[in-house]
Amino acid sequence: MRVHLVNPSDLSFGLAVITPRWLFVLAAATPERFGDPVIVDETLDRLDPETLAPGDVCGIGIHTGNALRGYEIGRIAHARGAIVVYGGIHATLFPDEVLEHGAAHAVVSGDGDQIWQTVLTDIEAGTLQPRYDGGRVAGTRFQPARWDLLPNGRYMWASVQTVRGCPKHCSFCSVWRTDGQAPRHRTATSVVSEIVELRRRGFRFIALADDNFYPVSLQDLAQAARLKDPTRLRDLERQRADRFELMAQLAQLPADTVFFTQITMEAAEDPEFLDAMREAHIKGALVGVESVTPEGLKAVYKNFNLAGAALAERLRAFRERGVHVLGSFIFGLPTDHPGTFDATEALARDARLTFAQFVMLTPFPGTIDFEKWERSFQGDAPSVDGIPITRHWLIPADRRPKYYMPHPTMTPDEVRERTQRVWDGFYSTRHVWERSRCVLSIRARLAFVLVSKLYRQMYANTGISTDSARRSSSMRWARWLSRPCRRLFAGTPMPDLQVPEPRPVVRAGIPVEFRV
Ligand code: SF4
Repeated sequence: MRVHLVNPSDLSFGLAVITPRWLFVLAAATPERFGDPVIVDETLDRLDPETLAPGDVCGIGIHTGNALRGYEIGRIAHARGAIVVYGGIHATLFPDEVLEHGAAHAVVSGDGDQIWQTVLTDIEAGTLQPRYDGGRVAGTRFQPARWDLLPNGRYMWASVQTVRGCPKHCSFCSVWRTDGQAPRHRTATSVVSEIVELRRRGFRFIALADDNFYPVSLQDLAQAARLKDPTRLRDLERQRADRFELMAQLAQLPADTVFFTQITMEAAEDPEFLDAMREAHIKGALVGVESVTPEGLKAVYKNFNLAGAALAERLRAFRERGVHVLGSFIFGLPTDHPGTFDATEALARDARLTFAQFVMLTPFPGTIDFEKWERSFQGDAPSVDGIPITRHWLIPADRRPKYYMPHPTMTPDEVRERTQRVWDGFYSTRHVWERSRCVLSIRARLAFVLVSKLYRQMYANTGISTDSARRSSSMRWARWLSRPCRRLFAGTPMPDLQVPEPRPVVRAGIPVEFRV
C-alpha cells in the first residue's frame, strides 16, 4: 500500500513558482511504516494514472479553483482500486459534494497535520470512516514539512508557515472562517529550523505562507487598552512579542535570504514592526488594498484600509522602510465605475508598488459575498449544462463563465476587458522598466523585467482570458519565461548552516502607552 499525495491542476507549467506546502506537510504526517509518499504536483506535471495500484491510498487536496480536476483524479484513482481521501478548504466546505462527485472513500475537514495519521491507521485496520474532522490544530503542533522529498530544480520559492488564522473578516475571503479568527502561532525555533533546512538545500527565496503575518495591529492594542480589558491586552501583547521573537531569529539567517509574506495595510502605521521585518530579510509583502475608494472598502468590510491620497502615502511607507509591496486590487465591486480602473492603475504607480495584481470579484464559497450572492437567486440560479452557476467550480473550465457577480452598471465583458487593460498598462515594458529602478545593476533590472513579465503571464492572461488561443499562448510564454526565472531564484546550497541560537529580543515590541 503506497501513499500518493496529489495537488490537482488543469495547467502544468513544468516549473512552479511556490511549493504547495500541504503536500510536504502531509508527507511529514505520514507514519514511517507507510514509506515515503509519492508526491504529485500537477502544476509541474500531470498525474500518471499508471502509478496508482489497487489498495494504494490517494490523498487529494482541493481548493475551489482545482476541485473539478481533483474530482476527476479521484474517479481515476477509485477506478484503479485506490482508496481515495480528500482534504483541503473546499473539502472542508463541501464534504457532501466531494463524496458525490469525487468518488471519495473519505473526506477530511479542517487541518490535516494530526488527523492524517489516524486516517492511514484506519485504512490499514480496515476501519476507514467516511468523515474525519482535523479541527484547528494549535500552532505548537503544526507539522514541519518533509523537504527531503522535493524534486530538484522545479520550484523557485519554498514556503513555510508561521501563523494560521486571521482576526479580520473581509467579505470576499474565507480564511477567517476556515482557519479561524484566533491566530495560531508556530514557535520561532520550529520555523527557523525548517528555513535552515531549506537554505541547506539551496533555497534562498522563501514565502512565509501565512494568512496574515501581522495579526495584531496598533489599533487592536489601543482598543483593548481603551476598553480596559487586561486579558485581551495581555493576549495581544504576547502575540506581538511572538512576532518580534520570530523576526529576531530570522534576522540571524544569512543576509542574502529573501522572505515574502502577506500582511494588512495597517502595518504601515507601525514603523517598529516594518523595521523588524526589514532586518528579518522580509523584503516583500502582498498587501490587500482591494479598492481605492471608501465606498469600495466598505463594500468588502475592509474599512480598516485607507483610500485616495492617504492610501498611496500609506503604501509608500512600506517602500520607505525597505519592504516591497505586491498590491492586490479587486475590480467589479458594485461601487466601481469605468473611471475606477484608470484611477486604480494610477494609484498603483503613485504608491510605488513593485508588483500588483488585479482580480475580478468572484463569489468564492465560504465567504459572506458568496452567501449573499447565492441567496439573491432564491434557489433559481441560471445554469450551464444543467449546473447552477452557484456551483460554478463544477462547470467544465471551457464552459465556465469567467465572471459571476452582477454589476449595477457594467456588463461582465466590460469589467473583464477593463481589468485586462489595467494589467496591460501596469505591466507594459515601459512601466516595468521604470519600476526596475528599485534594484541597482543592469543585470538585476533585466531580471526584474523577466520576473514581472512571468508574473503577468501566469496570473493575468491565464486567469482572466476567456479566449483559449490567448490562454495557450500565455501558457507557452509562461513556460518559456519560467526557466531563466528559476535560475535567478536559485541559491547556493549551504549544507553546513546551523540553526542560530535564540537571542533575547532587543525590542519589547509593545508601545509603552499600551502596557498594562
Ligand atoms: S483578506 Fe486578508 S485580512 Fe481579510 S480576512 Fe482574509 S486573510 Fe484576513
